[in-house]
Amino acid sequence: MNFNNVLNALNLGIVILDSEYNVRLWNDWMATHSHRNAEEMIGRSIFDIYPNLNKPVFLRSFKSVFTFGNFYFFSQKLHGYLFPIPITSSFQTSFELMQQSCTICPMREGDGPQVTHLCITVQDVTEMAELVETNQRDFLTGTYNRRFLFNRLKEEFERHRRYKRPMSLLIIDIDHFKLVNDTYGHQCGDFVLKSVCDTIQSALRRVDILARYGGEEFCCILPETPFENSHLVAERIRSQVEATLFEYNGNFIKVTVSIGIPKPAEPTDSLETLLKNADSALYEAKAFGRNRVAFSR
Ligand code: GH3
Ligand code: MG
Ligand code: MG
Repeated sequence: MNFNNVLNALNLGIVILDSEYNVRLWNDWMATHSHRNAEEMIGRSIFDIYPNLNKPVFLRSFKSVFTFGNFYFFSQKLHGYLFPIPITSSFQTSFELMQQSCTICPMREGDGPQVTHLCITVQDVTEMAELVETNQRDFLTGTYNRRFLFNRLKEEFERHRRYKRPMSLLIIDIDHFKLVNDTYGHQCGDFVLKSVCDTIQSALRRVDILARYGGEEFCCILPETPFENSHLVAERIRSQVEATLFEYNGNFIKVTVSIGIPKPAEPTDSLETLLKNADSALYEAKAFGRNRVAFSR
């Protein structure tokens, strides 16, 4: 019986590397998806072909499997992928590269303790990742949706209260947005709404979470950002939106935003209190003339 037939029948990528990180096995699944056949791969260093595998985060795990014989799991959620493979399937996706969940397992010669090879399995989870992504996003603006916002808010707020991790919250509302709809039409309003979100996003770090709270109102969670620094972020958002000219069908439109920042939560505060304080801060910003940042008292 030829066990290679089994390896090649799997709907799963299998790669075996020796202790020099040279490829020893590259199954048909890998060949089909990577467009590199086994003959081309066998005997070559995996790092020559996929330099991104040489990153410390992966390299450390490879070394640890060789030294300690443990297993590793690389989740798509954390790493996206191990092998950069362009997507060829027909379904619509926002990902450019195949999303993968991978395992790294030790292989030993006979009963010996020495780990001589690594076996990597590669699972294509692009479709699932796409579904998760769609479920978390607001269709119009591409920001996170309200459900995702509340889940993350609960998590971040708990970390903040229990472990004293700094965290800030901004609530952002577009000023006189009804006027944009009334003057230029609802489609233009949609365009401006999306463009304002892009502008806000560009003023944020990757770890910050921008979500649609409702209508033309957005929440921004700033993890690891103390209250004292949150006004800098808010001010950057406010001034960048103010400075941007949005063009739609030959019309140039300017909008501004008001931003509310709740005071830091007391140990006894609930998430509802934090949101209530954010609301009252936003109310202050509006009452004091809009296009400004205000704190809850
Ligand atoms: P304020 O400065 O007090 O916030 O004034 P405003 O006009 O922005 O506030 P108001 O609550 O009176 O109106 C919000 C407007 O936002 C009305 C609503 O039609 C519009 N809006 C909410 N969601 C959308 C959307 O998805 N697309 C468009 N085009 N408009 C939206
Ligand atoms: Mg508004
Ligand atoms: Mg509003």
